[in-house]
Amino acid sequence: MTDQLEEFRISTSNWLEENCPASMREAATTGDLTYGGRKAHYSNPDSKRWLDMMAKRGWTVPDWPKEYGGGGLNKEQAKILKKEMARLHCRPPLIGHGTWMLGPALLEFGNDEQKREHLPKIARGEIRWCQGYSEPGAGSDLASVRCKAEDKGDYFLVNGSKTWTTDAEKADWIFCLVRTNPDVKKQIGISFLLIDMNDPGIATKPIRLISGESHFCETFFDNVKVAKKNLVGELNRGWSIAKALLVHERSMMSDMQSFIPKPKYTLEEIAKSCIEKLNNPREKAVLSDRFCQLQMNSQALALTQQRLFEEMKAQQPSAAGLIMKYYGTENDKNRDELIVELLGHSGLGWEGEGFEEYALEASHHFLLTKGISIGGGTSEIQLNIIAKHALGLPD
Ligand SMILES: Cc1cc2nc3c(=O)[nH]c(=O)nc-3n(C[C@H](O)[C@H](O)[C@H](O)COP(=O)(O)OP(=O)(O)OC[C@H]3O[C@@H](n4cnc5c(N)ncnc54)[C@H](O)[C@@H]3O)c2cc1C
Repeated sequence: MTDQLEEFRISTSNWLEENCPASMREAATTGDLTYGGRKAHYSNPDSKRWLDMMAKRGWTVPDWPKEYGGGGLNKEQAKILKKEMARLHCRPPLIGHGTWMLGPALLEFGNDEQKREHLPKIARGEIRWCQGYSEPGAGSDLASVRCKAEDKGDYFLVNGSKTWTTDAEKADWIFCLVRTNPDVKKQIGISFLLIDMNDPGIATKPIRLISGESHFCETFFDNVKVAKKNLVGELNRGWSIAKALLVHERSMMSDMQSFIPKPKYTLEEIAKSCIEKLNNPREKAVLSDRFCQLQMNSQALALTQQRLFEEMKAQQPSAAGLIMKYYGTENDKNRDELIVELLGHSGLGWEGEGFEEYALEASHHFLLTKGISIGGGTSEIQLNIIAKHALGLPD
């Protein structure tokens, strides 16, 4: 590390130590994470204080330019900040579709007016965004979107529906893929629109999940008028923006473990206590083998992530980045499957006093990891992408 970076590391660490509220250095539960937005409710006032302090320094989005509310840090500084936050157990001050996906896409494809209008509000956590990509007939085959936007001169008239819209009822704005030309190859007639969820004609309906919770909605558009200034990029050329945004989404999902609340148990603890108690040597050997395999895979993933970072710094990214969403989310699923298996009957609880708190958490987490290998493109689709773009195999 150069002297300058070491200096940056020390001043960052000192600032975090002095300013991060004690409660923001404790493990978060799911309801505790800060997504911001007009409808945000901060059950712990420290969450809002932490958000505001970090936003003031631009550290909610450390590597965005300062003029758009970012910290203006270079990649190495941003990585140091992330590492120091992890070392001191500081929670991320703000997460969500705005910082993870729309912001980076707007930085690349938005015009100056759109960047000035939307990016600072995202960085300060004032506006929460959701993602209107999937439709009943357009998930893996995303280019088949049918929700249409007709050009009416001053505005677009949007009609149709979206599904699996995460937290649509809590969001203030939605970024949407809409069909603006139905008469051409499907990828060519798609546009990328920004829509205020308060616009007349928008309705949401929650979808209940296997976890019993409801983070998703169906979102309906009934003659919604959208100003022309909310078109990002060129008309009918939204597909390139959609794909670039998905790259940001997948990169975020492959690194999900770094910001979602950590369970109150670790695989190591559970494996140690459960495997030791086993009497059958074959069972012991098989489960020990799976445990070691998982540990090795996790280590290999962490090293690959480090390698990707070095490649990015040297501006020589390899195709290895394409594997991260697939391997990251599959590794999470394998870990949670082993945990539930190791716990035996006690890993099958959903609620109630008959189960330990950590075991209930494990079974909920087991179901959560199923979803993350689907969102942002399923594992099968990731394998198709790896086959085509990393290995050069035919379609
Ligand atoms: C946790 C989570 C969050 C999400 N959040 C959002 C959101 O905020 N906004 C949003 O727009 N969407 C969201 N989604 C939707 C998500 O993007 C879609 O579920 C996903 O793209 C798959 O589409 P689908 O559900 O229509 O399944 P389908 O596309 O119908 O796929 C069904 C099955 O067929 C397989 N399959 C399909 N095509 C192929 C192929 N060519 N080759 C091999 N196998 C194939 C798939 O892998 C899958 O197993 C979310 C989903 C999840 C689980």
